[in-house]
Amino acid sequence: MSNEKTYDVVIVGGGPGGLCAGLYVARARRSVVCLEKFIPGGQIAATGDVEDFIGFEHISGSELAERFANHAKKFGLEIASEEATEVYVDGDDRVVTTASGTTYRAKAVILSTGGSPVRLGIPGEDEYSGKGVSYCAICDGAFFKDQVIAVVGGGDAAVEEGVFLTKFATKVYVIHRRDQLRAQKIIQARAFENPNVEFIWDTEVKEIRGNGTKVTELELHNNKTNEKSTLEVGAIFPYIGFHPNSDITREKLRVDQGGYIITNDHMETSIKGVFACGDVRAQLVRQVTNAVGDGTTAAVAAEKYLEALEDKHRATRAVAT
Ligand code: NAP
Repeated sequence: MSNEKTYDVVIVGGGPGGLCAGLYVARARRSVVCLEKFIPGGQIAATGDVEDFIGFEHISGSELAERFANHAKKFGLEIASEEATEVYVDGDDRVVTTASGTTYRAKAVILSTGGSPVRLGIPGEDEYSGKGVSYCAICDGAFFKDQVIAVVGGGDAAVEEGVFLTKFATKVYVIHRRDQLRAQKIIQARAFENPNVEFIWDTEVKEIRGNGTKVTELELHNNKTNEKSTLEVGAIFPYIGFHPNSDITREKLRVDQGGYIITNDHMETSIKGVFACGDVRAQLVRQVTNAVGDGTTAAVAAEKYLEALEDKHRATRAVAT
C-alpha cells in the first residue's frame, strides 16, 4: 500500500545546506521535512576537525553536524531517515519517491544531495572495499591503529584527512599524481610539519593488493620516471574528489560538464519549484560556509515561490466565483 505524506517543502539531503534551508523554511512557519539516507550532516559529519567555520576556531565535524540538526529541529524541521530515489513534477506539486516506498508531496523541493566519493577504478578497489579500502577516515581510521596508511589525492580532503589519520597510523603516505597540491596552504603547511606524513609525488596507484581478507600492498607508478614500485600498507583512503548526486529528477535538470546543478542567484534550478544548494550546485567553492548561505537563499526563494503560487490560486478562485 502506498504511503503518501504532504509538506509545504521537502528537502532532499541533510548536509549543512539542507539543514540550514530547513531551519529557514521552518522559521517561515511552513511544514518541512528533510530526507537523509545516512546521518544528518552529510560530509561534515564524517570530517574529523573543522576550523574554518566562522565563529568556531575548532569543532569536530560530528559535533557541528549535530548542532545544525538540533538547531533546525528546534524550530520545526522534521528529519526523516529516507533515501530519496526520484523527484518529479506533478502539476503544481513536486513529488519525491523514496526507497522505503513512502512518497513525499510538496509545492517546492530543495535538492541538497551533495556528492559521492570518486573511486580510483583500479584492480583491488572493489575487492578490498571495507577490508582496508575506505573513503571515510573518521569512520574507519581507528581500525588501522599502529599501521601504515596511504591516502590518495592532493586536495583539501586528502591532505586534511591524511593529517587526521596520523592519530592512528604510525605513518601516512599521501600519494599524489602531481608534484603540487591543490589543498589550501594552511592545510598543506600542517601536513608538511607533521613528521608522520610523507608525500609520494608524481605517482599513481595502479593496483590494490591483499591477502584475501585485508589490504597489504599497493602497486605504484611514477608518471615522470615510469618507475614501478610497491608500498606495504594496511589501508588506503582515496580522496580524489566526488561526483555530484544530481541524477535524481525525472525531468531533465540543467547541469554543467561535471554534472553539478546549474542554478541562478536564487538557487532556482531549470525545473520550476525545484531549488538546489550546497556541494551539488555548480559553483567555485565547496565549503560549509557557502553551503549554509546557499541553503538560506534556497529557503527564502522557496518561500517566495510558495507565496506566488498561493497568490495565483487565490486569483484563479476569485475569477471562478
Ligand atoms: P578536489 O579538490 O577535487 O581534489 C581532488 C584531488 O584528487 C586532486 O588533487 C586531484 O589531482 C586528485 N585526483 C583526481 N582524480 C584522481 C585520480 N583518478 N587519481 C589520482 N588522483 C586524482 O577534491 P576534495 O579534496 O575532495 O575536495 C572537494 C571540495 O570540497 C573542494 O572544493 C574542497 O575545497 C572542499 N573541501 C574543503 C575542505 C576544507 O575546507 N577544510 C575539506 C575537504 C574538502 P589534481 O590536483 O592533479 O587534479
